[in-house]
Amino acid sequence: MIELTDVTKVYPGGVTALGGVSVRIERGELVAIVGPSGSGKSTMLNVLGTLDRPTSGTVRIDRYDVARLSDAGLSALRAARIGFVFQQFHLAAGVRAVDNVADGLLYTGLRLSARRKRAAAALERVGLGHRLRHEPHELSGGERQRVAVARAVAGEPAVLLADEPTGALDSTSGTTVMQLLRDLHTAGTTVVVITHDRDIAASLPRQVRMRDGHILEEVHA
Ligand code: ADP
Ligand code: MG
Repeated sequence: MIELTDVTKVYPGGVTALGGVSVRIERGELVAIVGPSGSGKSTMLNVLGTLDRPTSGTVRIDRYDVARLSDAGLSALRAARIGFVFQQFHLAAGVRAVDNVADGLLYTGLRLSARRKRAAAALERVGLGHRLRHEPHELSGGERQRVAVARAVAGEPAVLLADEPTGALDSTSGTTVMQLLRDLHTAGTTVVVITHDRDIAASLPRQVRMRDGHILEEVHA
């Protein structure tokens, strides 16, 4: 489904965030990418999700070599195939939950009423059917992250990439969000969770352990 082969990422200024990483994520997996701060996890997620291009090496999504796609082609692939969840939610302020989710479906070309209908269904799925009209500032952190998850999955992407999805949450809300990601995995979505939390990583069936821009080891539960 997603394959990185000998991927490096050197940022302008000379930081080598990925020093030659090869990893393959199969359809239907639930994977943790775990490591301390600065080990290259977010860089790897950005490359896996085609938000950033590697300095060298190849990235394949569904057999497409990402390097061969134009920026527009890549955006289209990303919009249809990949959902993202970030530590800081990245919801639009002053926009109701249902429209935060509906806006994530703009790429579908569906009209607003149809997008809102799908958005409401996605919010139901994350247990927020009663919060459709709430704006982000009227929601708890855990609820905001569930809106972000709803937005990420409303288009039924094949892959969900989550970068420290519980990092800004209290432990109860974090547990709820992790359970939601497990449920999505059970329902068929391929899920990749980035975390520096060893307990969260240990609760997932496969761990890719990162250190200093390299894969240190892989652990299968
Ligand atoms: P993690 O998510 O594991 O904390 P990152 O992938 O964010 O690690 O960062 C890996 C390394 O790359 C760090 O040394 C970080 O300072 C550096 N880095 C990350 N993003 C950039 C950037 N946009 N420009 C320059 N250096 C960066
Ligand atoms: Mg990070």
